[in-house]
Amino acid sequence: MITGKNYIGSFLSNKGAITFKTFNPQLNVENEMIFYETSTAEINKAVSLATSAFKEFRNISGIRKAVFLNAIADEILDLGDELINTYCSETGLPAGRAQGERGRTVGQLRSFAQLVDEGSWVEATIDTAQPDREPIPKPDLRKMLTALGPVVVFGASNFPLAYSTAGGDTAAALAAGCPVIVKSHPMHAGTGELVASAIIKAAEKTGMPNGVFSNLNSSGISVGTQLVSHSGVKAVGFTGSIKGGRALFDLASKRKEPIPVFAEMGSVNPVIILPNALNNRAADLAKTYAGSVTLGTGQFCTNPGLILGIKSDALTEFVNTLGKEIAAIDPMCMLHPNIIGVYEVNKEKAILQKDVAVVSVYQKDVKTNFARQVITTVEGVTFLENPTLHQEVFGPYSIIVQCESKNQLEEILSNLEGQLTGTVIANDNEENDFKEVISTLQNRVGRIIFNGVPTGVEVCPSMHHGGPYPASTDSRFTAVGIHSIKRWARPFSYQNWPNDLLPAELQNDNPLEISRLVNGLKTIDIITNE
Ligand code: NAP
Repeated sequence: MITGKNYIGSFLSNKGAITFKTFNPQLNVENEMIFYETSTAEINKAVSLATSAFKEFRNISGIRKAVFLNAIADEILDLGDELINTYCSETGLPAGRAQGERGRTVGQLRSFAQLVDEGSWVEATIDTAQPDREPIPKPDLRKMLTALGPVVVFGASNFPLAYSTAGGDTAAALAAGCPVIVKSHPMHAGTGELVASAIIKAAEKTGMPNGVFSNLNSSGISVGTQLVSHSGVKAVGFTGSIKGGRALFDLASKRKEPIPVFAEMGSVNPVIILPNALNNRAADLAKTYAGSVTLGTGQFCTNPGLILGIKSDALTEFVNTLGKEIAAIDPMCMLHPNIIGVYEVNKEKAILQKDVAVVSVYQKDVKTNFARQVITTVEGVTFLENPTLHQEVFGPYSIIVQCESKNQLEEILSNLEGQLTGTVIANDNEENDFKEVISTLQNRVGRIIFNGVPTGVEVCPSMHHGGPYPASTDSRFTAVGIHSIKRWARPFSYQNWPNDLLPAELQNDNPLEISRLVNGLKTIDIITNE
């Protein structure tokens, strides 16, 4: 049941004076439930509970954390249709998308459960002592990853489940041993509260300390700002705009004790279509890309917002066919009036830039909150000279850049900001003639795709979802997949520490039977004193 209150640990609380409602963009009406923004006293209480919970939670075994994470997944599934209906009423997205995202969320929780149950993720590294080493003895050193402390997670507007309350950031942080305080996204506060209730139930059922999780409502930037500034918070996870992510990153850097902000932000996901591919299948590619540009009304971080080709008749055919295909797709509603408002402003700004041609815009009337998809095109030189055209237009929009030559294509790529993905479309091994272009693209992105579309992020260990700034604030870390746990852990070394006082992961007899690097060799063997 949704109450509109905040979860301060396991306590429901509504002491704040500011209230707000969520919005149904399909029906263009406010939803009824009133939500209470978190007060400063409640923020302080949530951080204080998280700080005390951390003392216990950081030492809870991987096996118990796995039970907790699996229990969260079970409780989310137990929410049944109430979760799906709330999600749809707060986003305008269809039930199928809600169910798919719930499946992904549950899958992510279970994969982190499996990871910490097995235990080798801590990268245990042991170098045994050499007391007789000359000229000085070598000490016994043992290192492993350990939890950072309380983490604040900002719910994402475009993934109410998979990147929000119990999404990838939260699952990874809990798995690492960090209590989590979620700054719920105001557009889907009801979905957030339902998922929070599932996490709290799971925490109580599995004996986790109170404060291991809190869910805070807000309708403006004040709650998030206070959380990121709070001395008890030790790291931040964020998905959203460059403006928001950068503001939080700067705020965290200016603290007396700066903390890491892992922000996943804007990306236009450049797609290069090479000449033979255009000659062979311009129309088919246009159809495929019409689907990718409009998927989820363009509200994916991997949306293909920039398509590049070298001028030819085949490129002209691609441009014209993509225009026709886009115009034939029925528009869908966007997540919220604010998001469509930003889309309209950014789209108009892009269209009005000098020498930008509109290839196609959906012409018929659309309902309120529904987005008209747009394709534009420019010459390579125009794109190079105008950085405004490089910016993300979050929604069903893409710009096609018609380059003069291979050299100009490479120059454009080398001038792009960092991106989450890059895509290469090629035929007949022509990629071999574009090695430098592809290498330049690779240097700007976190993932490269061959003959596909960037939309659709597979959740698996080999996925890297992140990229050079501003795609993310730290390109060394992924926001998707089990390796994202490393954002919430720090290496810690024990020197000459008594064996029985070491964590189980580092003890001689390897009681958890995890894989370790012992004196330079990967092994699960025990360490003897011989
Ligand atoms: P957002 O504006 O970046 O906001 C995300 C969250 O951060 C919200 O909870 C917001 O709080 C908070 N926030 C933003 N600026 C802040 C600041 N200066 N200090 C403290 N907290 C701050 O993103 P959004 O609401 O999800 O969507 C708005 C736009 O972001 C979209 O139109 C789109 O352009 C972009 N976006 C991009 C991606 C992507 O993956 N590339 C994903 C989602 C959104 P409040 O809501 O409480 O103010």
